[in-house]
Amino acid sequence: MTAMTEEITIECPYCGEPVTTLVDWSAGAQTYIEDCQVCCRPIEFRLALTPDGQPERVDVARDDD
Ligand SMILES: [Zn+2]
Repeated sequence: MTAMTEEITIECPYCGEPVTTLVDWSAGAQTYIEDCQVCCRPIEFRLALTPDGQPERVDVARDDD
């Protein structure tokens, strides 16, 4: 099985700093929380896949929205 991890850089929705993280596409569409490496606040990551299972996009949001 091919590894489907990808290193991405997003902008923290709290502090605006670039945050680099590893996403695991093999787990499918999912939402999870990971703390910002800069301000330590909880960023919500939402992974979206295309209907044929290919990585589509990553959305980030504040956990307190
Ligand atoms: Zn931050």
